[in-house]
Amino acid sequence: MAGKSFDMIVIGAGPGGYVAAIRGAQLGLKVACVEREHLGGICLNWGCIPTKAMLRSSEVFHLMHRAKEFGLKAENIGYDLDAVVKRSRGVAKQLSGGVGHLLKKNKVEVIMGEASVPAPGKVSVKTDKGTEELTSKNIILATGARARNLPGLEADGERVWSYKHALMPPHMPKKLLVIGSGAIGIEFASFFNTLGADTTVVEVMDRILPVEDAEISAFAKKQFEKQGMTIREKATVKQLDRAKDKVTAHIEQGGKTEKVEFDTVISAVGIVGNTEGLGLEKLGVTVDRTHVVTDEYCRTGVDGVWAIGDIAGAPWLAHKASHEGVMVAEMVAGGHPHPVKPESIAGCTYCHPQVASVGYSEAKAKELGYDVKVGRFPFIGNGKAIALGESEGMVKTVFDAKTGELLGAHMVGAEVTELIQGYVVGRQLETTEEDLMHAVFPHPTLSEMMHESVLDAYGRAIHF
Ligand SMILES: Cc1cc2nc3c(=O)[nH]c(=O)nc-3n(C[C@H](O)[C@H](O)[C@H](O)COP(=O)(O)OP(=O)(O)OC[C@H]3O[C@@H](n4cnc5c(N)ncnc54)[C@H](O)[C@@H]3O)c2cc1C
Repeated sequence: MAGKSFDMIVIGAGPGGYVAAIRGAQLGLKVACVEREHLGGICLNWGCIPTKAMLRSSEVFHLMHRAKEFGLKAENIGYDLDAVVKRSRGVAKQLSGGVGHLLKKNKVEVIMGEASVPAPGKVSVKTDKGTEELTSKNIILATGARARNLPGLEADGERVWSYKHALMPPHMPKKLLVIGSGAIGIEFASFFNTLGADTTVVEVMDRILPVEDAEISAFAKKQFEKQGMTIREKATVKQLDRAKDKVTAHIEQGGKTEKVEFDTVISAVGIVGNTEGLGLEKLGVTVDRTHVVTDEYCRTGVDGVWAIGDIAGAPWLAHKASHEGVMVAEMVAGGHPHPVKPESIAGCTYCHPQVASVGYSEAKAKELGYDVKVGRFPFIGNGKAIALGESEGMVKTVFDAKTGELLGAHMVGAEVTELIQGYVVGRQLETTEEDLMHAVFPHPTLSEMMHESVLDAYGRAIHF
């Protein structure tokens, strides 16, 4: 018996899937969205949102310790980890509920269950009540990703945690090892270090936050070390010996292996796409390592099958997933949207200090053959930063010396995750140094540093 028919079926209700479903419905499509666990996906339930709620607690805790500097009194400062987690879970729940409301408002049919694609045009969903068969000419795979488990470093939820365990920690680490210094690893390192855990970060590459501009990585490293973190670069955790209340890590660095004891380990060594169980092989969809291969329009090469968000590969970011979702929904509805440009997607890390960037690093721009002009501006030269008590940080801009095109912007310091969008808009509008120099930035704001960094690239900075 033929099942229910839709114009578009989205598998997965993360920021890729639910946004695609809503945009499709807005354009008049009859849309179903299938989700096996929580509306909002990893982002709202186990990623972007709950981590930011936890980091806000550690930020407030840090500021409370600085009360005296601001002429305030705070005594007996402490924290209740269970309450921190409870708040974070509450925020996630609120937003997941909000997604349910939005899907309903847009008349998207939400089906809770595990989907597979037995043949082009067909989706089979295992629900609590049995199997539902659906049909549609357009199927969007938006099943996301999960933590990578390296052999020997697997999370067990007791002493060795994945990001999910770290978001609902069974205990407060005293001596913590974080393996991997990408955004996820560094955010947890920053959170637990601020709450007082003696934290070590091990990174296999030659610097932490390896996707960032080298100067920004170096600046962030110095700040973390000042906060008491131990950073070990060009180092590898070869083995973890697990005992009841401790883990011994075998850390290889500079040709030597050292055994170091920790009470907790967070494994943040990357993510793998949720490609299994969907029937992709039979469909003829190409999977490279753990990600579905697509073109710039998220087409998989199999007619009517698209892949968006984390399952479709880097950058593994919620806003990339959502943007791809909108693009695909518009194409399904007969539109001709522009493809998403990966180099115009900002990356943000919400550690203390924050890190944010868009476009090419200085090294990448040079590698691509650009003759560059580089501007820098330190937070110490900005009135608002000093008034806020946040004078550590920098803004770096990279321009094409020939055309004045803004090739990249890189920031470390307070609130830079909010500031970066100014440069994102600039890049989208194909702005040049000329436009940025003529823009009037309000005073006093941190954003004035964005102006000054541009001015500096052309030898015109005023306040430094
Ligand atoms: C700790 C952490 C912090 C992060 N912080 C940030 C951040 O600050 N900013 C940022 O941009 N990104 C962040 N990310 C990354 C972000 O969460 C992802 O890029 C984003 O969630 C990807 O969206 P998605 O829709 O592709 O997939 P997901 O959010 O993973 O959603 C996929 C959904 O599909 C469902 N699903 C899977 N298989 C099936 C199936 N067969 N049938 C039905 N349903 C299925 C899953 O249950 C899930 O709900 C973070 C990630 C982590 C882990």
